Amino acid sequence: MILMKFDFDSLKVKVGFEIHQQLDTKNKLFCNCKCEEANGSYDNNFIRILRPTKSELGNFDRAAIFEHTKMNTIKYYSKVGLSCLVEADEEPPHDVNRSALETVLLFSLALNSNIVDEIHVMRKLVIDGSNTSGFQRTMLVSTGGNLKVDGFRKIGVQSICLEEDAAKLLPHSKLYKEYGLDRLGIPLVEIALEPISGKPDEIVNVALTLGRLLRSSKRVSRGLGSIRQDVNISVNDGKVVEVKGVQQLSQLVKVLDYETKRQYGLIKIAEEFEKRNIDDGFIGDRIQDITYLFKDSSSTILKKILKDANSILLSIRLRGLNGLIGYEPINGIRLGKELGEFVRFFGLGGIFHSDELPKYGVTVKDVENIKELLGLSNSDAFLIIGGNEKKINIVLEPLIRRIREFKHGVVAETRSATMDGSTIFSRPRAGSSRMYPETDILPIPVESVLLDDLKQKIPLSWNDLIRQIMKKYELNIKLSEHIFDSQYYDIFEKIVSTSKNITPTFIASKLTEDVVSLSRNNLDKSLLTDDILIEVFDNLEKGFIAKESVTLIFEKIMKKESKSVKEAINSLNLIKINDDELHKILDKILNDNAHVIKEKGINSIGALMGKSMIMLRGKVDGYKINEYLKQKIERFINDEFFK
Ligand SMILES: [Zn+2]
Repeated sequence: MILMKFDFDSLKVKVGFEIHQQLDTKNKLFCNCKCEEANGSYDNNFIRILRPTKSELGNFDRAAIFEHTKMNTIKYYSKVGLSCLVEADEEPPHDVNRSALETVLLFSLALNSNIVDEIHVMRKLVIDGSNTSGFQRTMLVSTGGNLKVDGFRKIGVQSICLEEDAAKLLPHSKLYKEYGLDRLGIPLVEIALEPISGKPDEIVNVALTLGRLLRSSKRVSRGLGSIRQDVNISVNDGKVVEVKGVQQLSQLVKVLDYETKRQYGLIKIAEEFEKRNIDDGFIGDRIQDITYLFKDSSSTILKKILKDANSILLSIRLRGLNGLIGYEPINGIRLGKELGEFVRFFGLGGIFHSDELPKYGVTVKDVENIKELLGLSNSDAFLIIGGNEKKINIVLEPLIRRIREFKHGVVAETRSATMDGSTIFSRPRAGSSRMYPETDILPIPVESVLLDDLKQKIPLSWNDLIRQIMKKYELNIKLSEHIFDSQYYDIFEKIVSTSKNITPTFIASKLTEDVVSLSRNNLDKSLLTDDILIEVFDNLEKGFIAKESVTLIFEKIMKKESKSVKEAINSLNLIKINDDELHKILDKILNDNAHVIKEKGINSIGALMGKSMIMLRGKVDGYKINEYLKQKIERFINDEFFK
């Protein structure tokens, strides 16, 4: 079928942001544990089985039930100093961290949001295991207000809350869900904005502006993972899809693009359902076990599935859907793909469907057999799912319901953002979350004395802040913005404060442009820790290495070829050479290339520079080599002339 033309502007795209930003406090929200990453080095663990009771679930929240069908045993990892009995839910929470509360009050003031008289700690039901207690503690601090974008556009604020972060999901084994407790209880500010519409770059600009406002307080954490956005996206006033876990603006751009295309595609698919007058009661009206048909199949994929004695293959009849499972109304969006994602979420490998078969070793004969078994007419389609029988039994009913739902286009659900900017199914959309008062902590009155004091501390506006940085460090506007937007601003200030011989411009450009261009080559910038950065610039400050060496050392470390700065300097042979040695080396190069100079005169400098850099790269500043070479060549030409 022909691909439809996709036009973002013609769709009514609405986007609501909920931004979660970690606050840069010393201690957690409800205990004195430090807010630091364990970086995988835990020293203890324990196992819990979380079972939500009926009373907790009220009317059986749909998302909660769904999560429960998947839930298995959960293993929590702890580290002394980074989590205690509060995180393990063995001890009641302590008093709320005042510094975190003040930071959130500052944000409320900066956004003209109406602060409540008394702050109540509430429990919000969470049953994916990311909280040991089964709920997340949250405090509503203010409602309403607005964010000014580009100086004139006002975006409404819905609410501002102070919350505790959840435990961190670790790459887990098949037996358990595994979480690290180091992140549980770190204070977060949650800011929800009114839904907005506009072009993608206008929408992204809103997220950028809000992020900058938070950062200009200098009271929030930096770095990947310290800011997470949940983005609610709908098109043409349709159902709202919640995309969780967007961490970067570049990712947000891609998520907006992918998700609007996906929703547009689903609308087009629903139109086909409509045209064909599909009766959803007939979808999945016949299901046949076809394990025996493929006992001796030559298909390697099916053989692999059936290797496990508890595995089965089922075929499902989809009346009237022939051609629709593989139908791609817009690039990359198909029902087949959606259904594959859906079953993978339940731990199955994927699906096969009649629009793509025969393929994967499934023969024409196999297809004929299935069609006959299911009593298929030419307008019907079928689906095959395979895997562990227990899992199949769990997925079957939600899968069929899901296919029926596509008749109505976009399905309200929660999806997670991938790093490449697509979104994958994560669970049905939760109802409005049920809240219960936290009985262990008394309400906190907000005193007007405190607010009067905080009003003096409202962070500078972005423009004023950038102007201040430009003036203080003599940076140009672009570099000032880049360094402040980067995760390195704090370390930049620290390095500058101890440097006499290196300019802030040099430090800022290395920490922004150079790190960005190295990361583009898929190198891991998280390896450039604060300690490493300080050591590299300290070596430069003391004259042990040349300016050129800085990026070379970054690269060596980001490529995991060196573990320490010392190792990188040694392996790159970067120890700076002194002037005497430099003159000797350059004189030799000049003598060896006398014929080039005689031929090209002063224009030989390019060729000689190239030869010099091969020998001296990273040991002497390039500009110095250039300067010396120029002098030497001029002298050489002069001498030749007067010979
Ligand atoms: Zn603790």
